[in-house]
Amino acid sequence: MTEFRFGYGEIEPVPRRFPRGAAFVGRVCWSWSPAHERDHSYFVSQTRLGGNKWLLWVRRPSDDRPNGCYEAVVGATNTAFDDLVEAAKALLFRFWIWSVAAEKIDRPHEILSTGVLDESELDRIADQIWDDPFLDPWSKLVPRFTSVPEVSQFVCAYDVWAGIDTVEEAALLARGSSIDVLWIESIEGCRAVAWHPRRDAKESARILLEAFWRARHGFIGPTEFLQAGLLDGGEFQDLRDAISGETAANETAALRHRDAPIVRTARELGLNPRPAGHSPDAWMASCPGTSHWLMIGPITNEFGCGWCRRAGGPDELSIFAEERRHRRS
Ligand SMILES: [Zn+2]
Repeated sequence: MTEFRFGYGEIEPVPRRFPRGAAFVGRVCWSWSPAHERDHSYFVSQTRLGGNKWLLWVRRPSDDRPNGCYEAVVGATNTAFDDLVEAAKALLFRFWIWSVAAEKIDRPHEILSTGVLDESELDRIADQIWDDPFLDPWSKLVPRFTSVPEVSQFVCAYDVWAGIDTVEEAALLARGSSIDVLWIESIEGCRAVAWHPRRDAKESARILLEAFWRARHGFIGPTEFLQAGLLDGGEFQDLRDAISGETAANETAALRHRDAPIVRTARELGLNPRPAGHSPDAWMASCPGTSHWLMIGPITNEFGCGWCRRAGGPDELSIFAEERRHRRS
């Protein structure tokens, strides 16, 4: 399984010294105030230690060191990227995402120099992370934490219906100097699911929670209100109503695609295709031979299952369903 791990001083084993062959990726800085700055130069190197294939290093200025700088491994992956650029992009992208969750870090304030990645590539990575808002409703990119780092404000608690079961969720807001991060705490642990530039706490809670709910809509939705924090029961209800009213309208609008080839194929295969509700074009269907769903795009005429990592048109869907039938028999 592909794995990424991040942290300061938490990754082991690592080489004893900074490898001579490490490739310089780029250097960025943050300056929140004259006394509060961060200067990071990133490097990647290949490794064979601990089952990992690539390491991400940070070099930062240090007055305690004779050469004036200090290097540490901050990321590792077992993924076998065959290209330095791909390894650098993937590690830096995920390290910055981890940094938002762990440290509420905002976008680098300045790019000081470039190496493996040029300025536009560094900017493109940052654009994806500090977009407004960033959403990771299914925790594909943001790692799970055992607790919410540092003090955060309680937003509210509620039940969600997850298709099989009712699960309790608590929403929390972690506030950085210029970023607000929405955390969800449940039986599955703690995960940062959305963030955007810092604004009024209550407004942030409302916007981020709504964006998070919308992203999961049609699959998992809030049901009972349990406990008030930044948002009370009335505000919870207003948010829920706004989303469900829109869902009904989207579902009706999506019916115009009922004869799209990909929808017809899903129906013929017995996968129960139905409007997904989160947009006027979105459909979903059962993923063959599993208990989860897959996405259907009637406009592109494609399906995609993020869990099974399968995608394609009507023919690929038929082949996929056929494979699953064989697997079961
Ligand atoms: Zn699947």
